[in-house]
Amino acid sequence: MAGSYVIIGDGIAGSSAAESLREGAPDADITVITDEGEALYNRILIKEFAKGKLPAAPMSIHDPEWYDERDIDLQLDTHVTAIDTDEHTLHTHEGTEYTYDKLLVATGGTPVQLPVDNSDAEGVHHFWTFDDARAIKEHAEDADTGVVVGAGLLGIDFAAICGAQEIDAHYLMRGECWWRYALSKDGADIIHNALEEKNVTPVFDSGVDHFEVDDSGHISSTVDPNGETYDSEFAGVAIGLDFNLEVLQGTDIERDDGVVVDEYMQTSVDDVYAAGDLTRFYDTIIDDYAQNGSWGSAKEQGTIAAKNMLADGEEEAFRWVSSYSITHFDFPFLSFGHPTIGDDHAEAKFSDTEWRRLAFKDGKIVGGVLIGDLAPQSKYKKLAREERVVADQKDVLMAEEVDLDDLAPAPEQ
Ligand SMILES: Cc1cc2nc3c(=O)[nH]c(=O)nc-3n(C[C@H](O)[C@H](O)[C@H](O)COP(=O)(O)OP(=O)(O)OC[C@H]3O[C@@H](n4cnc5c(N)ncnc54)[C@H](O)[C@@H]3O)c2cc1C
Repeated sequence: MAGSYVIIGDGIAGSSAAESLREGAPDADITVITDEGEALYNRILIKEFAKGKLPAAPMSIHDPEWYDERDIDLQLDTHVTAIDTDEHTLHTHEGTEYTYDKLLVATGGTPVQLPVDNSDAEGVHHFWTFDDARAIKEHAEDADTGVVVGAGLLGIDFAAICGAQEIDAHYLMRGECWWRYALSKDGADIIHNALEEKNVTPVFDSGVDHFEVDDSGHISSTVDPNGETYDSEFAGVAIGLDFNLEVLQGTDIERDDGVVVDEYMQTSVDDVYAAGDLTRFYDTIIDDYAQNGSWGSAKEQGTIAAKNMLADGEEEAFRWVSSYSITHFDFPFLSFGHPTIGDDHAEAKFSDTEWRRLAFKDGKIVGGVLIGDLAPQSKYKKLAREERVVADQKDVLMAEEVDLDDLAPAPEQ
């Protein structure tokens, strides 16, 4: 199949889409445009680089030759500024115009800045790109004191970086526990204790009122809303992502804190697809719109989008239970699906480092968190994918050894 396909973004969603497009359309024109200066690298691993645990080399996934070999036109350092969906064109900051038959928007997100004084001071870091990781590493190596803000999956990376770089750090959290939307205090205490062991002190019911800076404009301390001051030559802020939607301004593409797509990754406008972190996609497992911020999900969305951009008739739906693991501690940690939603939950603690929690919606597993023992993950994910009603059998699900044969047989559908 020929035709011209343009992809905005060379993260894992855009890059996997390019690969699938080439596999399915050997003669097509395929262009990938990214405003970063390097081709696809492993965003998951840049935290290990910032911790000082990994050299830069293994971070790269594709070099430019990978694109050349597949006859994919890769445009680095190129920011797409506008799309005209009527004309099927897009424009870059350099004034270049590209024409497409089918377009994929895979532009991801940008970390949100704290709306407080001096949040743009030198030494206050956000974390998304390899460039960010280089700056974080360089600065963390020299800093003795620090704060981390944002009690979620990226905040914990900053905390681990502080630990690894021997920064005496305070982790300022709202509420009384880390990732309070997915973990109870029982589960979060395992994380709190592990942080303490790394010399990162959790501070609850806290946050940032403002940062203070020295004469050179560099952060020197952090003042929380209770008036407590924490010496901090380094600050890591991870309070969420703003999705990169500016490029869609002036189009009719539906947005709702992300790009709205159906289960085929198709936007509301013909010939425009979206994939990766920035989508609000129709999740056929929970029968509702949802968002995923994980590598595996972004990769699969890119692949599915590409298949559907090429499909002539039969389209393939995105149906996926995502997972996200943390490897900073002596024990493993994994969250899967949508652990922060649901109308019911079950949890159990087995030891000082073993705990798990499941979230249910309409009696079905929609997500969960496992700490210490990840063995039941595939069973839980299977039940989630099968949309099986199991919330009435929490004793079986929370057994230390989960045996799906102990569940009452699923009723015939
Ligand atoms: C430090 C860190 C650790 C993480 N750890 C994990 C983990 O352990 N497990 C996990 O599952 N996930 C993890 N994630 C999340 C995971 O990396 C993301 O979910 C995934 O990379 C999203 O891929 P994407 O392709 O949708 O977006 P992105 O990777 O954000 O790619 C989007 C690309 O589009 C470019 N772009 C944006 N706008 C434009 C424009 N107008 N013109 C041209 N280019 C543009 C951006 O510069 C970027 O290169 C981590 C993320 C970070 C930052």
